[in-house]
Amino acid sequence: MTEVIDGDAVAERIRDDLRDGIETLADEGVEVGLATVLMSDDPASETYVSMKQRDCEEVGIEGIHVEIDPEAPAEELHDTIADLNDDPDVHGILVQMPVPDHVDEREVLRAIDPEKDVDGFHPENVGRLVAGHARYRPCTPHGVLKLLESAGVETEGADVTIVGRSNIVGKPLANLLMQKADDGNATVTVCHSRTEDLAAKTRQADVVVAACGVPELVDGSMLSPGTTVIDVGVNRVDADNEKGYELVGDVDYESAKEKASAITPVPGGVGPMTRAMLLYNAVKAAGRREDVDVDL
Ligand code: NDP
Repeated sequence: MTEVIDGDAVAERIRDDLRDGIETLADEGVEVGLATVLMSDDPASETYVSMKQRDCEEVGIEGIHVEIDPEAPAEELHDTIADLNDDPDVHGILVQMPVPDHVDEREVLRAIDPEKDVDGFHPENVGRLVAGHARYRPCTPHGVLKLLESAGVETEGADVTIVGRSNIVGKPLANLLMQKADDGNATVTVCHSRTEDLAAKTRQADVVVAACGVPELVDGSMLSPGTTVIDVGVNRVDADNEKGYELVGDVDYESAKEKASAITPVPGGVGPMTRAMLLYNAVKAAGRREDVDVDL
């Protein structure tokens, strides 16, 4: 029987644990503050940000939301970030990506105070992660590690193939998995659009993580029996329903499930974990700044 890894349930357990940390901070007179900044009118980005705000409310984090006109000059975003950097009530800052074309994304990431960079994308935090002493683990890769742990999948000595080398998923996940750590010690293969014979790389793996943004790219024929499959992908594809679309992952779920020992669904797999790990980083950031042990 293939185990379907329930990301909603694992995320709920993480939020429950976080409530203890939030309470510990409250006992010290600290209210965790997480700022989200949206400079976009893309409906998907708007949805992501409102879900993050709802998550904050649910666990007792003070959500601060700033919206900036997507047509506004880049300075307006930078001024907002500077204000949030200086605001003692704000422990974490998340700028929803992508930003408009006239705004340099790399400059935006560099502008966020690394101590408040709960996404973990500031170059200083990327460097620390690669060097093995991460300040904040980026949310999606961290969520993937938590899902593996919840399914009892040992990473030590495992062959893990990651499909995708983006800065937000593939690369940080590869770094975390190869680290000398209890949830690392894996042998990692990172694939991308120029990889020759992708199926050979996925078939050799004990764990396959698909994060390529190509709907249902990884199917059952590309997996060996007993593989653990983590599907990071979220793709909108046309569908004959009321909305006119449905969400599918980067894995062909039905055929992959035939081969896998454990698999994450889409939705309800990695997505809820990304959101939970953002809250985790916000609580961690507050604990660090206020010098309170939040036991994370
Ligand atoms: P990017 O587009 O930034 O990166 C995609 C990566 O996949 C690239 O490295 C690309 O290679 C590689 N790739 C593309 N096509 C192929 C192919 N045919 N074979 C092998 N590799 C390929 O995507 P993201 O990392 O931002 O996101 C990946 C997926 O995860 C998306 O579906 C996204 O929606 C989803 N996502 C989900 C999250 C969640 O919380 N559930 C969070 C973040 C992302 P190359 O570098 O050569 O271009």
